[in-house]
Amino acid sequence: MKKLNRSFFNYFLFFVISTFTIASCTKSKDDENNDIYTKETPDLTKLPFGGKGIYKILNRKAGDASPDLLSLWLCGLPADGAGADNAADWTNPDGTWDYTKKPQVEGNVTWVSEFKITLDGNGNRILSGNGLPNHPTGIFPIVQGSTAWNYDKNPNVISPQPLSFTIPAIPTEAESKSCVGFGPAGYSLTGSAIYHGASTLGTDAAAHEMLDRFGGHTDGTERYHYHYPTQDHQDHIHKHTSGHSALMGYMLDGFGIYGPYGEKGELLKSADLDECHGHKHPVMWDGKMVDIYHYHWTYDFPYNIGCYKGTPQ
Ligand SMILES: [Zn+2]
Ligand SMILES: [Zn+2]
Repeated sequence: MKKLNRSFFNYFLFFVISTFTIASCTKSKDDENNDIYTKETPDLTKLPFGGKGIYKILNRKAGDASPDLLSLWLCGLPADGAGADNAADWTNPDGTWDYTKKPQVEGNVTWVSEFKITLDGNGNRILSGNGLPNHPTGIFPIVQGSTAWNYDKNPNVISPQPLSFTIPAIPTEAESKSCVGFGPAGYSLTGSAIYHGASTLGTDAAAHEMLDRFGGHTDGTERYHYHYPTQDHQDHIHKHTSGHSALMGYMLDGFGIYGPYGEKGELLKSADLDECHGHKHPVMWDGKMVDIYHYHWTYDFPYNIGCYKGTPQ
């Protein structure tokens, strides 16, 4: 009886293990197929507000000595901050915000963009241009009486902002991470600046300020810049079909920033990334696969950079 039980148990165990193995193989095959044939789409109706709960807006000047996961580490806040701060009409009862309910700055204003990226052969990448985007923008200043204007009276125009700066062609991770200042934290391949996720009021800019369909707007410096990776912004650079997102720009430490899809074509969230909002694995870098740190745009806060992993220029 005892012997019978044992052999039955062995058989049972074999059955369980084989079934499990077959199930795992089947699962991974399905996953691969999913990557190719079905694209994961984001749920933009329940996004966390930056500056609330675990999605922190840290301020080094105010005593926050280091960056943290899911958070933006600011160097400081300007004393004369301005901007929109009423998100009540697209805030859900659970305290998240609904991108699909938030108005946009309408319009189709075209610009003559100049933007050039060159490798000098001495280890440098040189970005130069006039800061204007190579796609249409909404109308700025925001049109008085428009829906967006009811929430955000942004009175600023967009004007050319000549840029010329040199970043390492193959950046390296610094010994310590750096906080992020106001103004450009990087440049999109569209030719315009990428700003971090906070407004000068110290709130979540994408959740409060009125942006156009490319996720951009202007500020007191009259510089057009992005806070959010909208579909239009992504598609304008590269229409994603499968696998890792394409490069969307360079941050000031020289590391690249890619769209929101990871190595297996999965939609990345901030929780998948480190405190600087990036990770390291092989990506396409100047035409070759290189195992290098890089940032990702995500649909959730802090959206782009959390801190500099390299040394900002
Ligand atoms: Zn802004
Ligand atoms: Zn990646």
